[in-house]
Amino acid sequence: MGRQFFVGGNFKMNGTIKSIKDIVENLNKADLDPNTEVVIAPPALYLLLVREHLPKGIEVAAQNVFDRPNGAFTGEISVEQLKDSGITWTILGHSERRVILQEDDQFVASKTKAAIDGGLGVILCCGESLEQREAGKTIEVVTRQLKAVADKVKDWSKIVIAYEPIWAIGTGKVATTEQAQEVHAAIRAWLKAEVSSEAAEKTRILYGGSVTEKNCGDLAKQPDIDGFLVGGASLKPAFVDIINARR
Ligand code: PGA
Repeated sequence: MGRQFFVGGNFKMNGTIKSIKDIVENLNKADLDPNTEVVIAPPALYLLLVREHLPKGIEVAAQNVFDRPNGAFTGEISVEQLKDSGITWTILGHSERRVILQEDDQFVASKTKAAIDGGLGVILCCGESLEQREAGKTIEVVTRQLKAVADKVKDWSKIVIAYEPIWAIGTGKVATTEQAQEVHAAIRAWLKAEVSSEAAEKTRILYGGSVTEKNCGDLAKQPDIDGFLVGGASLKPAFVDIINARR
């Protein structure tokens, strides 16, 4: 195995200069498991602030990036601009963007390609709605979302997949360890069949959706769960306990 444990903090549209500085300071002081790769995703406005105050070793992610080079795209941020600012990762395909901002699989795939081609790491989110789960379509939905990316991107070495069931995000209703492990194993089998054995073996698959310091321990023990993408709890001091879930 040997996949490095990975914990991402997705601040979403939360925080102020003060509260974000406090979070960063808390991380700087904390005793973090050196075996966990940690990536923090503040709102775009605070990316540089976070980058300047975090120690080397903790990376910073945008929550989104555009798929075109610099130019007349009001409101967007380019891969080149992120790299210029020392931002080495981006989240893409989060369900809040897919659902609220109506980003489709093709757009997410196009942005993933632009990010990977430009040398960024990508936390690529996928996940089903409650209705889709109840209709037995979870694996179909998730693999359809991933296939759109596989059609455009051949090198998955800088992609980390985040499986985030929509019904578990921000609801306090975490997936059971069995539910999560089942989907993670299916994603790994899909990677093996559709991308490569190497991608199946090496790609980190994170779970996201109401992860807390209380429920992360059991999830972290599952063979196909390689870390977490954490929303609400990443804004709290207990985020440190999630980073240290494998210790
Ligand atoms: P949550 O969000 O931890 O607040 O449920 C996770 C996410 O959306 O990445």
